[in-house]
Amino acid sequence: MSESYQLLIDHDAELAGAPSIGQSIIDTLISERIILPEAQSECVLTGVGYPPGPRLRELYDYGEQELRYWDMLRTIGVKLHTDRYVNFFGFPVFEESGCPECDERFSDQHVVMDAIYDCVSSFINDDRLDNITCPSCAMDIPCDQWVTVPDIGFCHVAVEFWNWPSFASKGWKISMPDLLSSHTGRVLAHSWGHM
Ligand SMILES: [Zn+2]
Repeated sequence: MSESYQLLIDHDAELAGAPSIGQSIIDTLISERIILPEAQSECVLTGVGYPPGPRLRELYDYGEQELRYWDMLRTIGVKLHTDRYVNFFGFPVFEESGCPECDERFSDQHVVMDAIYDCVSSFINDDRLDNITCPSCAMDIPCDQWVTVPDIGFCHVAVEFWNWPSFASKGWKISMPDLLSSHTGRVLAHSWGHM
């Protein structure tokens, strides 16, 4: 199985407030027993992550042919990012971008894609959100305001759930984004990535 993740993004978090906002998300996951409290390096590919918690077996019903994610996988952890973040593994599964001004959509083959790539390096390396000019309405719009599927980030708080089933899966008895939003008061966008 190739590695993938579900992703929750807080687009409103500024860099200075990112650590405390990120910690409030992790604290909620721990108190809900969705993750274990001790971070370790075995459950994620780089750095440290939180292994799955005991309550997941109540919160998720496996389909008949479905992989027993939390019991069978070695890489199955939750990793918090509280620095400048771009969803790099969203690019291999990129579907489309959309102008927030005129709603025109552009495929992953479009020149807008190249502009998004260029913005990634200026954000990560220089902490700058460059504009992308819409080929349809000619408006200059900051890269983090473009609609992308999946959501590419350009943010300061992101939580990766490595190899977890899609948050859109029918197996969930809860909405993970809604549960965390209601506990933390933050608006969280759902995204994903695939290596
Ligand atoms: Zn436009």
